[in-house]
Amino acid sequence: MTTTFAQPSQQDLVAHYTHQPLTGQAALVTGANSGIGESVARHLAAAGAATVINYVTNPDVAEKIADEINQTGGRAIAIAADVSKEDQVQAMFSKMFEAFGTIDILVNNAGLQKDSAFQNMTIDQWNFVLGINVTGQFLCAREAVREFLRRGPKPEISSATGKIICMSSVHEVIPWGGHANYASSKGGVMLLMKSMAQELAPHKIRVNSIGPGAIKTPINTSAWDTPEAEAKLRTLIPYDRVGEPKDIGRAAVFLASDDSDYITGTTLFVDGGMTLYPGFATGG
Ligand code: NAD
Repeated sequence: MTTTFAQPSQQDLVAHYTHQPLTGQAALVTGANSGIGESVARHLAAAGAATVINYVTNPDVAEKIADEINQTGGRAIAIAADVSKEDQVQAMFSKMFEAFGTIDILVNNAGLQKDSAFQNMTIDQWNFVLGINVTGQFLCAREAVREFLRRGPKPEISSATGKIICMSSVHEVIPWGGHANYASSKGGVMLLMKSMAQELAPHKIRVNSIGPGAIKTPINTSAWDTPEAEAKLRTLIPYDRVGEPKDIGRAAVFLASDDSDYITGTTLFVDGGMTLYPGFATGG
């Protein structure tokens, strides 16, 4: 039987999965000294990328993560910047280019919540969350795109000229009472991501999001740190376990590598099925 396309040899596949798919690439992960960002940075570094650990608080934690990566055969540096401040973002990228020469992978991870009943939400709570969760992603993505376009392709290390991964949330599609600012920010990230993906695809720049469900990190400790809280949370998760940061780290390596070369403009939900309307599982 003939086929119109060639399958890779099994030998090539075996070799592919034992080599580091991000070798020779430089990555920047924002908010990388805690939770999901830390996991993503550690996974990208283990997959071969020279990695910037961005942080805004707790420099000692960022330095410790970078040290551990450097001591285990990887390459990492910690750089401070508040992603919502244009001058700090630009200074961070300059420092990265001094250290690593360029950027190949940006993971826009930094984000936070300032929760409030809608009628009590202050303009400061609104602006703070939108400023970091959306404007921060815009500012970092713009610097990365400027560098991708300036540098051009490097086909010897990746089919794409650059890759951007936006950390979104299931709340880009699930409304969230008491968190109108956060849900609005993630809805904004969804169309920021898709608009960038559409505009930049002809330049071979891929832009995607990860939509985590409930992942055990400091952002949501009270939702899983007692057996009662965790059991309640699991009722929202068909796969019946709360996620861990490594679930997101693995997805990030996939979206950063050429394994996902034909994927752009999409959100990969890593949520154990949280977006499947579990309340309707028994008929609704
Ligand atoms: P986290 O609180 O552990 O980490 C957030 C990180 O962002 C921290 O390192 C923090 O210092 C950093 N950060 C905050 N403001 C910053 C700023 N102005 N500049 C630079 N860094 C800043 O929380 P996490 O759960 O790891 O969250 C990471 C991302 O994942 C966020 O975008 C969050 O919205 C998203 N997310 C998390 C979950 C979850 O269940 N944990 C679910 C969906 C989406």
